[in-house]
Amino acid sequence: MEWTDCGVNLPPDHQLASFTQQLDAAYEQGVTRFVLIASDVAEARRAVAFAEQDSRCVVTAGVHPHQAAAVSSTFINELRELARHPLVRAIGECGLDYNRNFSPPEDQRRVFAAQVELAIECGLPLYLHERDALQDQLAILSPAMAELSAAFTHCFTGDSASLQAYQALDCYIGVTGWVCDERRGQDLANAVPGISAQRLLLETDSPYLLPRTLRPKPKSRHNKPEYVSHIGEFTANLRGESPVQLATLSSANASRLFGDWS
Ligand SMILES: [Zn+2]
Repeated sequence: MEWTDCGVNLPPDHQLASFTQQLDAAYEQGVTRFVLIASDVAEARRAVAFAEQDSRCVVTAGVHPHQAAAVSSTFINELRELARHPLVRAIGECGLDYNRNFSPPEDQRRVFAAQVELAIECGLPLYLHERDALQDQLAILSPAMAELSAAFTHCFTGDSASLQAYQALDCYIGVTGWVCDERRGQDLANAVPGISAQRLLLETDSPYLLPRTLRPKPKSRHNKPEYVSHIGEFTANLRGESPVQLATLSSANASRLFGDWS
C-alpha cells in the first residue's frame, strides 16, 4: 500500500534536517511521495532546491492569497522562470482567502488572476486555496477552465454544495485531516462520499491540521506527512472503500494531475 501526500509545507531552513527525517519516517510507513507547496516566490525556490536533493518530492510555485499584497512587480516573471523547472508541477498555491483577509481582496483577485493566466501559458495545473470566497473564486476560475490543463482544490473544507460547484468544473479535490475534526469537519465528512473517484487526492497540509482522531494522541500538535495514511483510512471508511483501494486510486490520481515522479 503506497500513499501520496499532495500537500506538505516546507519548514524554515534550520529545520530541513528534521524535515528529511519526517519524510523518511513517512516513507517507512508507506507514504512514498510528497508534493511540497509554496506560498511565495522565495519559498518556491527553496522547495525546488530541496526537491532537487530528494527524488520523493515535486513542488508547486505560486503566491498564496495571504501574500498577495506583498508581491514584487516582477513576481509573474519570477514564477514563469521557476515553472520551467521540471520539478515544478503546478502553479500555486493561489486563490482567495476572505476568512482572514491578510491581503486586501482586490490584491488577492489581481494576483490570483495573473497566476491563472500563467498556468494556462505554462500548461501546468492550478493548485488552489480558497476560504470563504467561493463565488469570487469561481468567477475568476470558471472562464479559464477550458484552457487550463487541470485545477486542484487543495485542502477542501466546504460542504456538498461547494463540492458540487468545484466538481462541475472538473477540479481535483484534496482531503486533509480537517475531515477528522468532529467540531468543524462535519460538512466535509458528509461531502466526502460525493467526491468523484477519479478526482480525490489526500494531503496532510502539514505541519498544520493535525488529525484529531489519531490514537494514541501525538505529543506534538504539529502534523506530519506520515499521517496521510490515517487521513486515507478515515476517508476510505466514510466512502465505504478499503484503505488499499483508496491508496491506489488517490496515488494514481496524483500521478495523472502532477505527472509521474519517484
Ligand atoms: Zn493552503
